Amino acid sequence: MSDNDTREPKAPDATRPAGCPAWCISDHKVSSTFHHGPDVQLDLPAGPYTPDGPLLMAAIMQLIESEEEGRGEPIVSIQGATERDLDLPGLDQLIERLDDYMGRLHRLRQDYVQAIGVGRVSRA
Ligand SMILES: [Zn+2]
Repeated sequence: MSDNDTREPKAPDATRPAGCPAWCISDHKVSSTFHHGPDVQLDLPAGPYTPDGPLLMAAIMQLIESEEEGRGEPIVSIQGATERDLDLPGLDQLIERLDDYMGRLHRLRQDYVQAIGVGRVSRA
């Protein structure tokens, strides 16, 4: 599994606007109501057909409703075949499913190696 981060979090610095969380990579120079973390994306290997976007992408996002109501809870935005926002239990379920998927993908690879006969001595 690729853990390709397309953007790195910024190092903490004194120029970060008030209220901007450490994980935010947005380049806002003043206070903002929207914060965005680095994209964690999974891309298909290069091939004859290259989709426009990643197979799967996740990023932390936070929209602050108003200063009076305080900070809105950050969510994890998922994009790929569909888009969806996840909370922490939802993110844990996705990770569990990806771990399970990796096991099944490795088993599929073993079956594929057998199917294409890699490692067999050819009968010339
Ligand atoms: Zn920010």
